[in-house]
Amino acid sequence: LLKEVGIPGADERIDHYPHQFSGGMRQRVVIALALCAEPRLIIADEPTTALDVSIQAQIISLLKGLCEKHNTAIMLITHDMGVISEAADRVAVMYAGRICENGPVADIIQRPRHPYSVGLMGSIPLLTKDVSLLPQIDGSMPRLNEIPHGCSFHTRCRHAFDTCKIQRPELTAVGEARVSCWLYDGKDADKVQNSVSDTVDKKNSAKREQQDHVFAPLLEVANLRQYFDVSSPFLTRLLNRSKRVVVQAVNGVDLSIGRGETLGLVGESGCGKSTIARAIVGLYEPTGGTVKYEGISLTNKLARFQNITTQKKMQMIFQDPQASLNPRWKVGSIISETIPDHLRAKGRDAIEKRLDELLMQVGLSSLDKRKFPHEFSGGQRQRISIA
Ligand code: SF4
Repeated sequence: LLKEVGIPGADERIDHYPHQFSGGMRQRVVIALALCAEPRLIIADEPTTALDVSIQAQIISLLKGLCEKHNTAIMLITHDMGVISEAADRVAVMYAGRICENGPVADIIQRPRHPYSVGLMGSIPLLTKDVSLLPQIDGSMPRLNEIPHGCSFHTRCRHAFDTCKIQRPELTAVGEARVSCWLYDGKDADKVQNSVSDTVDKKNSAKREQQDHVFAPLLEVANLRQYFDVSSPFLTRLLNRSKRVVVQAVNGVDLSIGRGETLGLVGESGCGKSTIARAIVGLYEPTGGTVKYEGISLTNKLARFQNITTQKKMQMIFQDPQASLNPRWKVGSIISETIPDHLRAKGRDAIEKRLDELLMQVGLSSLDKRKFPHEFSGGQRQRISIA
């Protein structure tokens, strides 16, 4: 099985521990585990979420190949439309505990009908379109214990009318798909679909025009170098006659970010992306090069100490929200720890007010501040990190 899922040197690797494998290899082992019982159905819950794009593509093609070979069906749970378009035959879009649209994958991706699916598909950047700003669906999904009456999407839907607020639509056939939306209740599917897409497009082009300006420089990084000495201790090296080992994680990177601009830093695992981020915010002291924020140098410890106020203007959101939130602290304490001193000086009420605002901004409720991180889903935990 290990050979079948593409683990190199499977004969030796069978005796290794999980921590001795990379993320992609561990996912292959998990697929081998699932195949042990020769199942007819595999339920893959976000199998590629923690992997980088090139490993994702390998895992998807492996899953597809294995399923064709063993004639196995897969239910692939994911929020990644790229994975769905590559791997699935049919797709079911869920909202607030119900399926709002399902059908053949090409049909749903090219001609989504439910306003929620239209919003989802519209948020995928296309190289053929101006993508200065991605569209978004305003608001956030209701909590599952507070689902509104009628169509659960009506509080966020720009097409909602009276019936939507009272009666819940059932899935009905529209072309090759099935859609739960009152817009399609006996109406011409194409007309409705076009008008829904047009509204989303118009809204986005208006937003794009607003954003169409030149970005003033905010952060400038020049010739950034970050080396790590991973040599054995001196005595061990002396006895083994081994040399010093220095890992050059980042070697001469230049970049700049403008005010209000988003810069995408892309690359495979281990290519140095996170190291650059950590060096910029001061978690590592760079081996060389300069980091300037609004023209102020933050490169060495002394400069960072002198410019602590500037340093606070940069904040980091980590990859793994589970590991970056203290499991023994309630969410309110975690967030309020970072609330600035001037609000602290105003007292408890000012802190509570700011806490509530932050939770609302990231789509959570003020009641959530009394909970621990383990009481949230992965996505909600990342919202807490953003707050
Ligand atoms: Fe929007 Fe009404 Fe359709 Fe729900 S039923 S998606 S509220 S138009």
